[in-house]
Amino acid sequence: MKKVYIRTFGCQMNKRDSEVLAGALERRGAELVDDWESADVVLFNTCAVRKHAEDRVFSILGLIAKKAQARGEDKVFGLLGCMAQEWRDKAFKKAPYLDIVCGPNDLYALVENLDEIIARGKKALFVDGKARVDEFYSDGAYFSEDREHSFVIIMEGCNNFCSYCIVPYVRGRERSRPSGDIISEIKLLIDKGISKITLLGQNVNSYSSDLSFLELLKAVSDIKGVKELSFVTAHPKDASVELFRLMAERENIKKYLHLPFQAGSNRILKLMNRNYAIEHYKELVMAYRDIVKGGYLSTDVIVGFPTETDEDFQATFDVMKELKFETAYIFKYSPRPFSKASKMKDNVPKEVKERRHKILLEFQRSIAER
Ligand code: SF4
Repeated sequence: MKKVYIRTFGCQMNKRDSEVLAGALERRGAELVDDWESADVVLFNTCAVRKHAEDRVFSILGLIAKKAQARGEDKVFGLLGCMAQEWRDKAFKKAPYLDIVCGPNDLYALVENLDEIIARGKKALFVDGKARVDEFYSDGAYFSEDREHSFVIIMEGCNNFCSYCIVPYVRGRERSRPSGDIISEIKLLIDKGISKITLLGQNVNSYSSDLSFLELLKAVSDIKGVKELSFVTAHPKDASVELFRLMAERENIKKYLHLPFQAGSNRILKLMNRNYAIEHYKELVMAYRDIVKGGYLSTDVIVGFPTETDEDFQATFDVMKELKFETAYIFKYSPRPFSKASKMKDNVPKEVKERRHKILLEFQRSIAER
């Protein structure tokens, strides 16, 4: 029986992908282990959203591979997820110890071919995105590391092309899973004792299959045994008052909304290709606060986007001051491959990015404390 170690970086989508992968491999006889030392197969499921995280992955993987080699151990190393899709065959050059490079939409191909890859001992590249994502999610769906809560992926990919973001290039265009598959997966998890569900997608409110997102939310909220239901991430251009009303009406829908605003200046929002004005964002938040009483609100913010002036930054600060988020995830801009913004000059100096980042962090901390 081969022993497999999976380590996950990045977002909840990756976390759920790793769980489903673990489930699908376990069904095929693999034993999942918690430490790389005892594993025959070491898989890193990675994130490409920030350069810093990428450097970390190569550094940790490289270190492990070196140690294994020094001990004369013959392990199989795999780079999975968004970094694999970004680096493609170049990953083998950058990290020659890699045996497998597999993008996020090809994990089912990896599951089906892992034994053969090990037996053949050759390098395997899966990045064409043609693997059957729906089958993959059904295959390992029962697996959840948490005994109470599970993420369930309802849609994949993104059509928004925010100018700073690599996701549409590595996860591909939006694809919504059929509602029947999602509901079966949730029932399976409930049978295993899970009672808290989070519906996941890059942009959940653009979910569209046989049901709309609101219809799906109602259908899942009606499932017996779902005690708490939440969803991430919502895009401000698709969020609606109807959604907030449903959140308020249904007792088992968690009063939690993650609504990234990214920047307070309309000029920067336009350059980011966010497709809303900050006035619209503020109206949404006011409606949410009004309808979903006591609702929790979190957001994402980027500082130091190309051409961001002191006035632009002040506009971001003012939004945070006015809207008082319960949580804010604040990031310093860094150019990502393929993205439109990477063709712009990254002209906000590092010290300025750091200063702006610190100002927002400190402000948010003071709000949270209060
Ligand atoms: S909505 Fe924008 S930031 Fe979010 S995944 Fe899509 S392109 Fe990236």
